[in-house]
Amino acid sequence: MIELRNVAKSFGSVEVLKDISLDVHAGEVVSILGPSGSGKSTLLRCLNHLETADRGVIRVAGEPVGYKEKNGKLYELRPNEIAKRRRDIGMVFQRFNLFPHMTAIENIIESPVQILGHKKSAAIADAKVLLEQVGLGDKGDNYPSQLSGGQQQRVAIARALAMKPSVLLFDEPTSALDPELVGEVLQVMTKLAKEGMTMVVVTHEIGFARDVCDRVVFMDGGVIVEEGAPEDVIQNPQHERTKRFLARVL
Ligand code: ATP
Ligand code: MG
Repeated sequence: MIELRNVAKSFGSVEVLKDISLDVHAGEVVSILGPSGSGKSTLLRCLNHLETADRGVIRVAGEPVGYKEKNGKLYELRPNEIAKRRRDIGMVFQRFNLFPHMTAIENIIESPVQILGHKKSAAIADAKVLLEQVGLGDKGDNYPSQLSGGQQQRVAIARALAMKPSVLLFDEPTSALDPELVGEVLQVMTKLAKEGMTMVVVTHEIGFARDVCDRVVFMDGGVIVEEGAPEDVIQNPQHERTKRFLARVL
């Protein structure tokens, strides 16, 4: 579902991603751990066409990111084509980024109506089902300011799901939440994982990585230091850098 081959990305003279290769299969849930500045967000942003890799190839759902393939050759995508591709890749950020002047339902139907051209009535019906799924069936008419951080993040997840993406990317979805609200968001993510959603989750929630994810990737300094089953990487890390990081966060 996701394929990265020898991906590199620099900002100015700083190489933030160095020769990253990674595969995420359909239905797999992969967490990315690593210290601040190790390139985790940049990696997700490259998957979602928010950044362009300098070298290497990235494919999501069979399509090369940023390019289209014709007769074995790659051509750069135009902005409207990039926007079209991006629909298929849901992203949930640390800050929920809901539109403050729209209710939960209005936030969820915005893209299906504006971008996919869905009928408003159908999009609202869809949104109500999604709100039920994230445990917010009674909050559809609330504005973000009338919701807790955990509820806002669950609306943000519902909004991403409304586009029926092939993959969902999460960038520290619980880091901005009060500790008592983290569980309700992780619970929704756990449910999605069990339902077979393909997910890449940058997180510091080691419990989630260990219990829910199929695989854990540890990054440091723009490289994948080690990856494997959670019980291997978290319980029995091989590399000094992984051990040091886990000793700090566990
Ligand atoms: P954190 O855990 O703090 O979120 P991260 O692993 O997500 O860190 P990135 O945000 O990917 O790290 O950043 C990796 C490096 O790239 C950092 O040194 C950062 O300062 C740099 N960087 C990221 N985005 C840009 C940008 N647009 N321009 C210049 N430098 C950038
Ligand atoms: Mg980050």
